[in-house]
Amino acid sequence: MPAKPKKAARAGKAAAKRCPICGKPATEASRPFCSERCRDVDLNRWLSNSYVIPAAKDDDEDAE
Ligand SMILES: [Zn+2]
Repeated sequence: MPAKPKKAARAGKAAAKRCPICGKPATEASRPFCSERCRDVDLNRWLSNSYVIPAAKDDDEDAE
């Protein structure tokens, strides 16, 4: 009975690389993202996040 789990083996390989932004399969060119746009989104989110923290910390001392 040739009932090999073809589907499972293929899915296991593809599931390893998924775009963390939109969840689509990642491409070789923009790993681990699916496209340059998603890579940009992630970078922007990362940058804007680290921008907010130090600004609020330094200005507080002067205000009081
Ligand atoms: Zn994506």
